[in-house]
Amino acid sequence: MRQSFHDRDALLIVDVQCDFLPGGALAVPDGHAVVPVLNRYIAHATEAHVPVFASRDWHPHGHVSFRQRGGPWPVHCVTDTEGADFAPDLELPSDAAVISKATTADADAYSAFAGTGLADTLRSRNVQRLWIGGLATDYCVLNTVLDARKANFEVLYLDDGSRAVDVKPGDGARAVARMREAGAIPVRLADVE
Ligand code: ZN
Repeated sequence: MRQSFHDRDALLIVDVQCDFLPGGALAVPDGHAVVPVLNRYIAHATEAHVPVFASRDWHPHGHVSFRQRGGPWPVHCVTDTEGADFAPDLELPSDAAVISKATTADADAYSAFAGTGLADTLRSRNVQRLWIGGLATDYCVLNTVLDARKANFEVLYLDDGSRAVDVKPGDGARAVARMREAGAIPVRLADVE
């Protein structure tokens, strides 16, 4: 289906951070492939004067999600470390709004809406529909999309601008199915005019 950026849209780029790229602490397979694709979506959004939001994992040392504390993940995206930086070739506009999540030691958050006030921020900017993609499909993108739908935003899911961890094979495909069931519409660059 053809899609284009409109008034009342926002582009939300989820966790495209160095630790989630190949060579990072918690690398998503093929994760770097999203960067040039997302740059094209950013260019389309900017051209249409659509605001760009970028979420990031922003953990203190000793975060509850780390294995040292019994969590599922290696140490990653610690505040003010290189691993927490956005991908260096991600072309975020200078006025992109950065959403930091899971910023306290004892709570994790996969969703960019969790504890960030993002829904209110979007409503205050009159946003009705979100274009959402990034890393990783089966965790932070999935939970962000589901929360966006619960908060009654329309959602376009950037199918070519996202990659899955696939801890269990098929996790990514199952996540896409869940997002579609929740009403998110998959979109690819070739659909954008
Ligand atoms: Zn994390």
